Amino acid sequence: MICPKCGSEQIATVASINGLWVERYKKCKACKHNFQTCEIIKVDRELIEYQKVVLKQILKDSKNQKEA
Ligand SMILES: [Zn+2]
Repeated sequence: MICPKCGSEQIATVASINGLWVERYKKCKACKHNFQTCEIIKVDRELIEYQKVVLKQILKDSKNQKEA
């Protein structure tokens, strides 16, 4: 991570909020600029395709339940 203002790599983490994603409050040691970062889980294509199939099935099931 580099400072978005001056490009320095001298970044300090001031605080972190942990959850399904992590938010970090950062401060550049060079120019004192404050900024936030967000760390998220990177999903792969296979997982996305699997989620689509499952979602379609759920929608199909709920439609069938309404008709029955
Ligand atoms: Zn900076």
